[in-house]
Amino acid sequence: MTIHSLAGDAVEDAGEGSIRFVTGQCQACGNRAFPMPPICSNCQSTDIVRKPVEAAGTVYSLTEVHVGPAEWHRPVRLAYVDLPDGLRVFGHWRGSVGIGTRVRARMGEVGKDAAGTHFTTYVFEPAEASDA
Ligand SMILES: [Zn+2]
Repeated sequence: MTIHSLAGDAVEDAGEGSIRFVTGQCQACGNRAFPMPPICSNCQSTDIVRKPVEAAGTVYSLTEVHVGPAEWHRPVRLAYVDLPDGLRVFGHWRGSVGIGTRVRARMGEVGKDAAGTHFTTYVFEPAEASDA
């Protein structure tokens, strides 16, 4: 089975099926960004420090898209999730999720092409009660 991760180096393995988001923090102005950028969008400094954070937060907004590439599982469920440190992350979601739901991201399949390649990326799902 061929698996292609769409998340690239925006996430890192945190063990036991968990992931962390790899954010960046500008050392010149303090601006934070996800994924980690090569240059600060605020002050154009290239002095960006890699800062992995827990891949969990609260749903700010969400939607379902019923059209799109044939390879993607539809509806494509997309959300903005606010992380505790103020970053807002865009990504897929699944499960019983609404605005305000506490969620955690894990790697999950979001599509598969005719050649059998499975596409994965981070997917938000309700955080377990033990996370509360
Ligand atoms: Zn900056």
